[in-house]
Parts: sequence; C-alpha cells; structure tokens
Amino acid sequence: MTAVALHAPFAGWLAPLSSVPDPVFGEGMMGPGAAIDPTEAVLRAPAAAQVLSIPDSAHAVTLLLANGVELLMHIGLETVALGGRGFEAQVRAGDRVAVGDPLIRFDLDAVALAAKDLITPIVVVSEGARIVVERPGRLLAAGDRFASVEAGAAAAPQTRTGSIARRTIQISAPHGIHARPAARIVALLRPYVAEVTLRNGDAFANARSTTSLLALAAKHGQRIEAEASGADAEAALDALAAFAAERFGDEEGAEAPMKPSTQGGGGICASPGLAIGQAFHYRARTVAPPRDGAGVALEREALDAALRQTAAMQAGAIGEAHRALIEDPDLLATAQREIAEGRSAAHAWLVATEQAAAVLRATGDSLLMERAADLEDVGQQVVQALTGVEAAPPALPKSAILIAQDLLPSQFLALDQARLAGIVTAAGGPTAHVAILASSAGIPMIVAAGEGVLAIPEGQSIILDADAARIESEPAVDRLASVAQTIAERRERRAADASSAHELCHMADGTRIEVFANLGSLADAAAAVSTGAEGCGLLRTEFLFLDREHAPDEDEQRALYASIAATLGDRPLILRTLDIGGDKPVPYLPAAHEENPALGLRGVRLSLARPDLLETQLCAAVAGVPGEQCRIMVPMITDLAELRAVRAMLDRAIAAVGRSKPVALGVMIETPSAALLADQIAAEADFLSIGTNDLTQYALACDRGNAAVSAKVDALHPAVLRLIGMAAQGARSHGRWIGVCGGLAADTLAAPVLIGLGVTELSAPPAAIPAIKAAVRRLDMAACVALAERACAASCAQEVRTILKGAVQ
Ligand code: PEP
Ligand code: MG
Repeated sequence: MTAVALHAPFAGWLAPLSSVPDPVFGEGMMGPGAAIDPTEAVLRAPAAAQVLSIPDSAHAVTLLLANGVELLMHIGLETVALGGRGFEAQVRAGDRVAVGDPLIRFDLDAVALAAKDLITPIVVVSEGARIVVERPGRLLAAGDRFASVEAGAAAAPQTRTGSIARRTIQISAPHGIHARPAARIVALLRPYVAEVTLRNGDAFANARSTTSLLALAAKHGQRIEAEASGADAEAALDALAAFAAERFGDEEGAEAPMKPSTQGGGGICASPGLAIGQAFHYRARTVAPPRDGAGVALEREALDAALRQTAAMQAGAIGEAHRALIEDPDLLATAQREIAEGRSAAHAWLVATEQAAAVLRATGDSLLMERAADLEDVGQQVVQALTGVEAAPPALPKSAILIAQDLLPSQFLALDQARLAGIVTAAGGPTAHVAILASSAGIPMIVAAGEGVLAIPEGQSIILDADAARIESEPAVDRLASVAQTIAERRERRAADASSAHELCHMADGTRIEVFANLGSLADAAAAVSTGAEGCGLLRTEFLFLDREHAPDEDEQRALYASIAATLGDRPLILRTLDIGGDKPVPYLPAAHEENPALGLRGVRLSLARPDLLETQLCAAVAGVPGEQCRIMVPMITDLAELRAVRAMLDRAIAAVGRSKPVALGVMIETPSAALLADQIAAEADFLSIGTNDLTQYALACDRGNAAVSAKVDALHPAVLRLIGMAAQGARSHGRWIGVCGGLAADTLAAPVLIGLGVTELSAPPAAIPAIKAAVRRLDMAACVALAERACAASCAQEVRTILKGAVQ
C-alpha cells in the first residue's frame, strides 16, 4: 500500500498521542496518531484528500486520504461542547482539497480559554492503518512533514508475541460469574495484553467483555477452561486463577447483602427494614432516539463522548458494574457496526444493549435475567446523554412508598431518596442491582410482590415491613412510632459506613494503617481515587508500556507519570522502576533464552544491565511527579549493592532535571535474601514494601506461573509470614515504614497477621480498598500481634487459614 506523507496542518509543537490528557485519544482508543499543540489559527489539509465529514460545530474534520485511510483531526479537547463558537468551517463534506488548503479557521484565544486543552489529536481511524510519526517532541512550521500513513490489511487480526497458556478454573464465587465478578475480571485483566478466552461447555467468552462473561452462565462449583495468548499470557491467567480462588472478590452472599429472602405476604425481602409512608405509583418513561445518523465519524465521536460522560457519572459497586458494561468491547463493536451502517450513535447503542440483554434473558437463568435490566439501564443512560432528552424522574411526595412494576438502577438513583421511604415492585428479584442499591441506601424493599400491589390506591398510608415481606395498611399510632425510631437508627449507620471509605484508616485502637492502591494504568489511578485509596503503593510501570516495539522515551514517560500524579491529587505515588523479565517479557527488550527466567535477568538486575533504560525512567519520574508525592521503588532487590547502584543513578537523575527536593527511594522485599538482610537494606532504603507474590514463589520454590504447583503458592504459608516478620523487624530497627503491595494485601483475612507482624501500609487493587479499610478498622493491635505469633508457629498455610478464620468469628 502506498504511504501518504502528512504535513503539519498548522505550526505548533509535535507531541506523541499518548501525551494527550484524554483517554479516548491518549490511550489510542480512536486509533494511532500524533498530536500538535497549535500556535496558529487555521487548520489546513495535511495531504491531498476528500473531506468525509465536518460537523456543524466545525471543531473537527475527517478526511479520506489518497490511499484510502481515514484521518480525523480534532481541534482541542472537549471542543464539541463549544457548539461551534470560535470555529468557522472552510470546506464541506465531499470537497476535494490539496495539501495546505484551509479546512477550519478558529479563534485561537477564545478556543484556548473555553476548551479543556488546545492540543489537537490527529489520528488514523481506519482499521489496521499505520502511522509513523517522525521525531515527536519538536516545533513544526505549517507544512512541515511530520508523519506518513499507510493503509493496512483491513481488520487484520492483532498479532501478539508470546505463548499460549491454559488453566482450568473452579468457580467458587457463591453466585458464579455474575455482574460484579464479570466487571472485576475485566478490570483485573486490564493491565495485561494477553487475549483471554473462557470456555464453559460449548459457550466461549471474551474475558475482556462483561456481557460476554455473563452469557457464559458459569455457576458456583463449575470448572471452566481459560486460555490466554500474548506476551503476558501466563501472568494474566495467574492473576485470573488467584482471583477465582478469592471468589472474584465476592463474599459469601455478597450479591445479596440483605437478609436471606423471606417469602411471605406475596413478596420477597430485597432490602430489610421497616418503612412508613404513602403509596406512590412509578411510571417509567424511556427515550426513543432517531434511527439515522449524521455520518460515521461524527456518530462515533458522539458515542465516545456519551460513553465517557455516562461512565464518569457511575459511582459505587453498581457503578463499577455499569462502567464495565459501558467499556465492554463487545457492546462497543456491535454499536460501531451499526454506526458504520448509517445508524445514529443512540440507536446503535440501544441495539447493542438490547441484543446483549436478549442473550442474557434467553439463558433462562434468573440471576442473568436480572442483569439484563442493568444492560437496558445503561442503554437508556447513554441514550439520554446522546439525545439530551431526560426521562424526568417523578416528583415524589414526602415519605413515598414507591410501587412499580419493576425499577431500573438509574431510575432509582434519579429519585429523591430523602423522600423515598420504601419500595415495592410487582416483579424483580432480590439480587437485582436495584435491590442492592436500595439495600446500601438503607431503603426497605420488597420485590416480586405480584401484580396486586399495582392496584393499591395512590396516597394510601402504609407500613412496609420488608423483613416479613408484608405491607400493612392503616397502621396504629404506637406501631408507627416504634417503626419510625428503627428506620432513623439504621439510616445513620449505613451513611457512616458508606462515607468512611474516603477517610484515613485507623485500627480500633487508633493505630494508623495506610491503605494504598496498586496501579497499572492512568484509568486505575482514577479508580483508586474514587474507591478511597490514600495513595499509590505500587505503580507497575512496566504495564504502562508493555505492548511496544520500542522503549518509551523520556517525554512520553514523563507525560504519563505526570498525568497519573495529577489524577492522584496530592496523594503519594510510589513508582516502581521497570520490572521486566521473568513472567513479564516486553517486545522492545527481547530476552536471551533463559532456563529459569524467574531466577534470571529480571527486575533491578535487568535495569542495572541496561542503565540507559533506568536512567531515562528515573529522569522522567523525578521530572514528572512533583515534590514529596514522588517516591521510587526498586523491584527484585537481593542486597545493598543493588540499592546503592540505583541510588547513585537516582541522585544523577535528580541533578540532571534540576530538581531541588530529595526523592524517597524504597525497596521491594520479594526475595528471601532481601527479607533476611532487611536490617542492612533498611539502613539505606527510605521504605520497604513486600511483594508477597514473588516472595512466596521464591520462599516456597513454587513457580507462580506453573499450574502444577499453583495450589501450593499460598502467601499465608508460615515460612512466608516469618520472612515478612523478619523484614518488618529490619525496617523497624532503622525507623523505616514497611508495607505490603503483593496480592496478600488484598486478602482481608491476612490483614491482622500482616499488621501484627509490623506492616503499616497495605496496597491493593482499587476495588479492594473499601473492604480492606472496613476490616482494618475492626482490628486491635494487641490481638493482631498475638494472632501473628500463632500464625508464624503454624506448620502449613492451611493451618494459618484455619487460625485466621477462627479469629474472625
Ligand atoms: C509481588 O511480587 O508481590 C509484586 C507486587 O510484584 P509483581 O506482582 O508485579 O511481580
Ligand atoms: Mg514481584
């Protein structure tokens, strides 16, 4: 295919696309490309082309290049919101333009003031097309050549380097792979590049798609097959298998945190409690969008914007599940296909969600059928964002007992909860998301009460006794008084629980324990902030640039580190230097064959063998992350000599970027050697953090990627606990803090023993933060110390687990 040269559409600074502070462009979701920060106010054709589309708002243009590649140029970020103010189109769809022809004139100052950013992404949107950006990080004059574009084989399958890995996974989650486990699996796999497919009998699922995972209908107790291909296939399946062993983060009965369903009075208790109020009938209204679209590029952009807007509005655990649906690649693919056929973004998204909902309904599985309501809900929310038409929530009377055929989570969330005393639905189930929402909001709810409730006269005074699944009309005065008292007390307790995830974490005896998050992407940083993380205890920087042919340069790294730091606000950011090798190979550093890669050139060993890479990274980190927020951590340390070598390089990097403030340098305790020598290491390290994943594999001589020994890889083994104890003692002897950032930190069962051994910081995946905080708040230090002693004296991991479970009861 012929390459087409691109010439600067205006003068400005040429930057890598990844520096654009907007995930749709910056993370390459729209396609590969570059970005230019303009210094002049006319956007010109970068090559001879035909104008495919230009919106009324004239903030962007799509061109068809001579080699058939579609190119999108988008002036500034979120400029669609300006509604055309400050922009003037110079061409129309269908026009043919020569290189240098003006396409859009804009008011540089006005747009710069009104827009989020003026940086202009230039991306190829055709499937498989390639763009080679020439020397990003330089100033361009208008017309300078800056890139070339080649058409690819359309929809060529992405080839990934690496092996194929397989595991059999036992589903121990109490409700199988329902919505929350599905969403969590998608989030878990996000840092990995491997394609992961799950098979349950004849059904296959893309493990990156929530809807696909739901349709797998994997139930408690079933065994399913997982297959992964790609550079980090083994690691991805490791993580998945470990997560499956933890019941995908589901507590026993987590999907239905309310009391066990109580049949009686013609309904089922979906959220316990008593409510007093007056009957009010809900009538749902939905928005029907136009069928036809206004051009493929425009509709795609509109859909992206609406999906982002809707995702940003989601909150809490249900929001987590909804966000996963919004980001679901299968749903998106269906919607994109519809758009390509000329449909409007709203119509396309409705088709995608309705089709997926139909698949779930067809399973006949009551849990999955309830999830179909979530899909429809997400469908409506996005349609409302696209059309701007809101299905207005009804104005509730004071103390309303809402009666509905069924209720969607978004319909529930749109209600004025201060006026909502209780809910009764004719249909629905006790584990529907709306039931969980009601439960966590402390609003009593009865579901499946039958059509009869729809005949209750509006305004009738009633008591809703959800515990007994009973509705009482015309209640006596003394009964009313006692019920009112109970309701008030329960509301207060729930509100305190929900809000405390964002408060600093202290144990019951007042000891401060920091609860931080492990991150592998910019999106993780936002998730961490929303779940209440107090900082980042481990940024796995190798995950940021895993699927690359070339090592990331300093500018690109600095920009991404700076974005992650900004997302975290003033929370500390512990950036781990590249931990490449072992089970984490990268395409840009092809490793020589090693008999035992886990014992080979990995982590800090590789960094010291390739000081150019580490130097670049350290400079990017200390320049990109400001002040005391910046902390550096080194993986796979075995002794002091390695730390000293890195310290010398860090000092040089600090001097090179002209930074005045020192930067804390910590060490990961991942090798038995580091744990045994922790007293020496802590003399020179500013902090220690235990990587229990590797410490366990090295202490127990069990490859963390080998299914044959995976049952033995248990970080609660007394040998591992004793090493943790030694490391903590070493840290204490020099007044350093010590944390845990390995998988054990996310296990609430392990929290008392880790704290009892001297750990004062736990760093875990963002989704695990609220549960960890709640568990830690219940702990007492003296009891933790005693428990840790008993655990270390045990003879095997199983015995430790039995001791810890006994202590929880
Ligand atoms: C660990 O080994 O526990 C750790 C946190 O590092 P990783 O899982 O990235 O190897
Ligand atoms: Mg490790």
